[in-house]
Amino acid sequence: MPDHANDGFVTLCGAGPGDADLLTLGALRAIQSAQALLYDALVSDEILALAPARCLKIGVGKRGDRLSIAQDKTNDLMVRLARRGLHVVRLKGGDPSVFGRVEEERDHLDRHGIGHRTIAGVTAASAAAAQFEFPLTHRGDARSVTFLTGRTKDGSVDLDAGAVRNPEASLVFYMSSHNAAHIETALRTAGRSLATPLILVENAGRATARAVKGTLADLAWLAAANAWAGPVLIGVGSAFAHARLPGAAVAVAEMRRA
Ligand code: SAH
Repeated sequence: MPDHANDGFVTLCGAGPGDADLLTLGALRAIQSAQALLYDALVSDEILALAPARCLKIGVGKRGDRLSIAQDKTNDLMVRLARRGLHVVRLKGGDPSVFGRVEEERDHLDRHGIGHRTIAGVTAASAAAAQFEFPLTHRGDARSVTFLTGRTKDGSVDLDAGAVRNPEASLVFYMSSHNAAHIETALRTAGRSLATPLILVENAGRATARAVKGTLADLAWLAAANAWAGPVLIGVGSAFAHARLPGAAVAVAEMRRA
């Protein structure tokens, strides 16, 4: 626990994408010393179980469009608990810096004079890449990787055509499975070839992970044809062709073309 414990302190902590294997040692130590844990919906029970029995555990999670605690309530809760002198661990799925609203939380803590630190986590894209054995960058044909979201506040898709057109760019879409059809159209309109390799990965980094491969032309169909229950990532770019999947998963895309 940090030295400033008497003043209360917040650790903004990446929990990785699910299974406890992908926690950092720093995250594990923070969780074990937590007196209050504010956790996202994507944080697994296995990880929550690592907190001390007496630790206050509060779910503040967001899952897609489902009802959740508003961000300002979470911000206020962090401040209130820290002012009680507690070590508050704000546990966030994946890496806090990737679609994690971490800067809003840090700003809020700064404004209220609460000490904090941030611990990195494994982002879902990295976990998916390791588990299904594809690179995110690849010498020669995948020279950059971009994390994007296909979701905007009004539900529309607004992609920067210049950024997504490059055939050597790996694109990883977070929070986008509901917008797959729009993304397919937007990428096509931007000039990305329909033959561009594609992967959808659900529950990356967990024992329950599932993946399907195809090409950009299959995106809307693959997103709709699978009953996704967990969080899903979409990868578009030549790097994803390297993914090694169990035979059954590959067959899905082939079935469609048959
Ligand atoms: N900070 C997180 C991302 C939060 S945004 C990170 O670094 O991973 C939430 C989105 O992340 C989900 O809609 C989904 O697209 C993706 N995601 C999170 N966990 C995932 C997982 N285990 N498998 C696949 N996608 C995941």
